[in-house]
Amino acid sequence: QADVALYQAKNAGRDTIRFFNPEMQATIDARAAMEAALRDAIRRRELQLYYQPQVNRDGRITGAEALLRWLPPSLEPIPPDRFIPVAEETGLILPIGAWALAQGCARLAGWQKEPATADLTLSLNVSARQFHQPDFVAQVWGQIKRFEIDPAKLKLELTESALIDRVDEMIERLHRLKGLGVGISLDDFGTGYSSLSYLKRLPLDEIKIDQSFVRDITHDQNDAAIVRAILAMSRSLGLDVIAEGVETQEQRAFLLRHGCEHYQGYLFGRPGPIEDFPAPLAGHGVQPAEIFTN
Ligand code: C2E
Ligand code: MG
Ligand code: MG
Ligand code: MG
Repeated sequence: QADVALYQAKNAGRDTIRFFNPEMQATIDARAAMEAALRDAIRRRELQLYYQPQVNRDGRITGAEALLRWLPPSLEPIPPDRFIPVAEETGLILPIGAWALAQGCARLAGWQKEPATADLTLSLNVSARQFHQPDFVAQVWGQIKRFEIDPAKLKLELTESALIDRVDEMIERLHRLKGLGVGISLDDFGTGYSSLSYLKRLPLDEIKIDQSFVRDITHDQNDAAIVRAILAMSRSLGLDVIAEGVETQEQRAFLLRHGCEHYQGYLFGRPGPIEDFPAPLAGHGVQPAEIFTN
């Protein structure tokens, strides 16, 4: 919590609304401090995308997932789980998400200029709030045109939470996104509440097996059974599958044995700045643009 405390001290002079519940007030203060800190971070361009490789059965890199990091000078990188919830609540996720989309498309444009990297895919996480914007499809199309990228190499990762409200409208929106030529990936699969009949209605290209199932795959019979079932189901629905959080050769061997095609995890590479991405693949995308907030 050191980083939060630090920013809180800095903002101590600000007026706050008083509630009679001190615990509640503490939470609100912490949130307000986090929001203020996040606004400062955006202004100072401290947000960056890290890239984590995704590989095929042979271990060859087929693409990457872009993962947001907050890099305050001289502090440890702050992981997204610490600030994305606040960004979601305050709406800051909208400018941040728009910026990440532009950054990702710029990266793909860089890759697509070089034969060695032209086939790489890039996966971007899209938050529920971002996806629910009425002009989201237009935003995606705008960036595809702006950077003249092959949309087939762009994958948008959504979680079930983005797809539980206004289901018909959101399914229609997914169809329009697919109409642009981009891929749709369902993130954290297995952690939500989707029934199979619901899943069947979604125009998906890929599902990502959540790392919580992969973690104990080699010694927990239930997790092993769940993962086998997900792999079998995806095969029969014609969906690509990628396993998240693959850390050991044993996990990889299990997944290989049961027909998993794609892998992501520390075993193959940790998320890192683009400069750390395997040399010929790093490429030269357009570098940090500004995040515009109102
Ligand atoms: P996610 O999309 O499910 O991303 C996978 C997470 O697993 C990442 O955490 C990644 O660093 C971590 N991971 C990858 N391989 C391994 C492994 O082998 N072992 C373990 N223990 N972990 C592994 P990270 O980067 O902290 O991101 C957390 C979540 O934050 C993401 O989960 C995603 O939901 C969200 N997020 C990240 N970037 C963005 C973004 O640009 N926009 C939005 N809306 N959400 C984002
Ligand atoms: Mg993801
Ligand atoms: Mg995930
Ligand atoms: Mg997650």
